[in-house]
Amino acid sequence: MKIPILAAITGLALTAAYLESLTSPPPTPVNTSTVTVRLLDPAGHVTEPMVVPQVVKSDAAWRAQLTAEQYRITRAHGTETAFCGVFHDNHKTGVYTCIGCGLPLFRSTAKFDSGTGWPSFFQPFARENIGETRDTSYGMIRTEVHCVRCGSHLGHVFDDGPPPTGLRYCINSDALSFFERPPAKPEPEKVLFGAGCFWGVEETFRQVKGVTATRVGYAGGHTRQPTYEAVCAHTTGHAEVVEVEFDPAQVTFDALLDVFWKSHDPFAPRKTGSDAGDQYRSAIFFLAPEQEAAARASAARLETQKPGAHVATEIALAGPFQPAEEYHQHYYQKHGGKACPAP
Ligand SMILES: [Zn+2]
Repeated sequence: MKIPILAAITGLALTAAYLESLTSPPPTPVNTSTVTVRLLDPAGHVTEPMVVPQVVKSDAAWRAQLTAEQYRITRAHGTETAFCGVFHDNHKTGVYTCIGCGLPLFRSTAKFDSGTGWPSFFQPFARENIGETRDTSYGMIRTEVHCVRCGSHLGHVFDDGPPPTGLRYCINSDALSFFERPPAKPEPEKVLFGAGCFWGVEETFRQVKGVTATRVGYAGGHTRQPTYEAVCAHTTGHAEVVEVEFDPAQVTFDALLDVFWKSHDPFAPRKTGSDAGDQYRSAIFFLAPEQEAAARASAARLETQKPGAHVATEIALAGPFQPAEEYHQHYYQKHGGKACPAP
């Protein structure tokens, strides 16, 4: 609980925000719609179909997450100029995911040179992950394709592709992210964890062997470059998070997840320990597709230990990470204090 200390620093405005946080309902309605998809497991395989929450965001949230061009293509059904996208000439081996929600959409093994100037694939990563609609714009009848989880417009599918499917998924580069698999060289991985006051969460992960760097900050909201005061005033939708950089050769992602679950009560919606409020919500913002599959599998295992209870942790693609103000960084290291106690 750090509010009293900071209230002394920032004065009455923050105190008022704190008092409001005790009485205000959660500002964002919880989306209960679900969709069945397949993810990429840590071994590189396609998972069994999984029921996951649909990703529904406000227009402001999409604009905060995406570049102007990504927004124009995925949310406003735009098309990028042929031969100008970053992936039409990408020949690396790996997985293409949705820029909006991180869902795996295509593998490089299904990519071919169609000569059109847009990334082209003859089959999706999983049939479940791609939605289709009839598109009659521009006087043509075409089949539009989109991410089934977040609705991002991807491009179109035509029936003039190569064997074995005869299909040509004509996709905009700006609707995609690409993850080289296996990675060209071993690199540290990153993930964002939210588990209450970020001072304690950072201290908890800083002490884990194999964690090579930590930073506290804000993520998951609908504004760009939020400040601490704005986050505490509940006007941004952002959560306090810790960016954890780790060496997978020294600590596995599953081991970090164990630390995460034990650091707070993931069954309590929008509340962790003595800190209440949407900015203290439990969250895993993944930065690689395998992290999502591992996090969801780990959460499902946790639920089996507590029959009837549901893990409230938000598991979502990491949007932009805004590092917190310098005085929040390594706070317990500078001023003393202990890591988050296990519940
Ligand atoms: Zn998506």
